[in-house]
Amino acid sequence: MCKKLAKIGLHSEADLLVHLPLRYEDETRVTPVARAPWGEPVQVEVVVQSNEIQLHPRRQMVVRASDESGELTLRFFSFYPSHKAAFSEGARIRAFGEVRGGFFGAEMVHPRFRKVGDDEALPTEMTPIYPSTAGLANSALQKLIGRALTVGDLSDTLPDELRQRLKLPGLARSLRFLHRPPPETDLDTLHARNHPAWRRVKFDEVLAQQMCLRRAYLARREQGAPVLAAQDDLAERLLAQLPFGLTGAQQRAVAEISADLAQPYPMQRLLQGDVGAGKTVVAALAACQAISAGWQAAFMAPTEILAEQHYLKLKDWLEPLGVRVAWLSGSLKTAAKRQQLAATAAEAQLIVGTHALIQEGVDFAKLGLAIVDEQHRFGVAQRLALRKKGENPHQLMMSATPIPRTLAMSYYADLDVTVLDELPPGRTPIKTRLVADSRRDDVVGFVTKQVSEGRQAYWVCPLIEESEALQLQTAQETYEQLSADLPNLRIGLAHGRLKPDEKQAVMAAFTAGEIDVLVATTVIEVGVDVPNASLMVIEHAERFGLSQLHQLRGRVGRGSHESSCILVFAGPLSPTARQRLKIIFEHTDGFEIARQDLQLRGPGEFVGSRQSGVPLLRYADLEMDADLVEMAREVAEAMLIEHPELSEKHLKRWLGSREELLKS
Ligand code: ADP
Ligand code: MG
Repeated sequence: MCKKLAKIGLHSEADLLVHLPLRYEDETRVTPVARAPWGEPVQVEVVVQSNEIQLHPRRQMVVRASDESGELTLRFFSFYPSHKAAFSEGARIRAFGEVRGGFFGAEMVHPRFRKVGDDEALPTEMTPIYPSTAGLANSALQKLIGRALTVGDLSDTLPDELRQRLKLPGLARSLRFLHRPPPETDLDTLHARNHPAWRRVKFDEVLAQQMCLRRAYLARREQGAPVLAAQDDLAERLLAQLPFGLTGAQQRAVAEISADLAQPYPMQRLLQGDVGAGKTVVAALAACQAISAGWQAAFMAPTEILAEQHYLKLKDWLEPLGVRVAWLSGSLKTAAKRQQLAATAAEAQLIVGTHALIQEGVDFAKLGLAIVDEQHRFGVAQRLALRKKGENPHQLMMSATPIPRTLAMSYYADLDVTVLDELPPGRTPIKTRLVADSRRDDVVGFVTKQVSEGRQAYWVCPLIEESEALQLQTAQETYEQLSADLPNLRIGLAHGRLKPDEKQAVMAAFTAGEIDVLVATTVIEVGVDVPNASLMVIEHAERFGLSQLHQLRGRVGRGSHESSCILVFAGPLSPTARQRLKIIFEHTDGFEIARQDLQLRGPGEFVGSRQSGVPLLRYADLEMDADLVEMAREVAEAMLIEHPELSEKHLKRWLGSREELLKS
């Protein structure tokens, strides 16, 4: 029993108290069989007439029973000997379920049932149906929780004044009501979960989540960090030699980050901006401030291609200004080379690289700022490892995966967030087309036309999740096919299995305009920036996720030329695939796409790995209860500071052991 309880997270009386019903069934009334509305859950009370096991068309137990108003068949497809015994002839049964019209008249399939005595009284309360696990009966949970309700601690953890200001009912009252709603309660409101009692519970839960995240944030703030105040005009000189001026959004971001860096505690900031919003230059300016203050900055990116692009660009921007920029790649072979690079890390001022940066043996002499690009691609452990390379360096994380605000409040409540909500000027909107794969010739024709106008194109090969080998093979075949179809064009191939120097050579050639069409696997998904590329073809677009499609499409539309994205799909489409293609076709705004993606998939899958507070939520729904999240966010910090004891108790009640999920 204890094991089964533990399996669903119930370790204590306190856990039982906040283990709330999924729904309720009204067993306070009995409906005569003849008057049961079909398809609606009702309770009937019948006397068994016969009971037989039929073998055709499927093994099943068929019970014929009746009350004064009419006859009813009860049908069970899975049953035990005990079932057979319960349905002995003449037994009185209360069955709860939906009545339907069957071949032999009214019937119930797999009702919940109970054998009762002749004059057994009806329950006077709704029956709560609890989330459970195999072998743990609802009635057992009901009993345990009932006891917890009489002896357990239901004291309120919200100070009265706060509770009244937020217009929320008391906790004890709310929990009692949800476990034991009175008979006259309207079940529809209860099931819709917007009854005040539900709101109170959901608020408490969201508050616990926000407090937990806030506490992690405040704890990190307690630690000291280097004060990075610029000692010279490096950042101004970089700005002066850029071929463009910053957008308003970029200026605001730079100012916020610059102020953070000058504080004696570590910055924990997320820079969020849609694909192409111009995050790199903001990061470069932050690096300038660190360097100019006499510290090192590290810039970590998730793929070799992306890291290298950053390296080349940053070197191009900063070396002329006298900054020592180093490159650390994952493909270091010999120990000697590794040593040499470790030494570079000691002398360089800006170190760009992949995960190689966090390898053992790479020592930074004086790391003041850790920048992580496409941060959602890294695990918590990896970001932590980079932080550990210095003594509490400031952290700047960047992400092009836009997250709707309510979700951001949960995922990033332990970070400060800056949003780049403006794209650099002069971008032409990307035209998106959906083309069936039977019209591949048209697509090839369109590629030719673009190239004849001096543009370049990406051709992304289908994602084959089951097999990397197969994916490679497809890329190779596409490359050969296109080379045959377009003999006059220069075609290149980039995929994850190329050696780093081969990959580098291909990307360099594409960047330099020596390749017209780059056939690629999703290795180019993040961050690659070639402004002259104006066409993105994605084969089997139906296999890609929305954020991937959005990222890929964002590879074009970076120059001043009209750009397009052709999504080639193969039917038949599943309903979700159709929905995804519709969304990406209709929207270009990353935030809107993310919002719809969230609706399509639910928050669990949304950002991938742990890093979020979402696993902590059982009752609240981030979309539906956005107002509660907002309220909780506002009071979380004050609650922690002004009511430490209540806070402790609150966290324990709602998170219990699950708080560990968020540590690290
Ligand atoms: P992302 O936010 O996706 O990382 P990047 O930093 O790669 O975007 O920037 C995309 C492109 O826009 C780059 O070529 C960059 O040099 C250019 N860019 C950035 N800021 C501006 C600006 N303010 N005006 C014009 N172009 C800009
Ligand atoms: Mg980028």
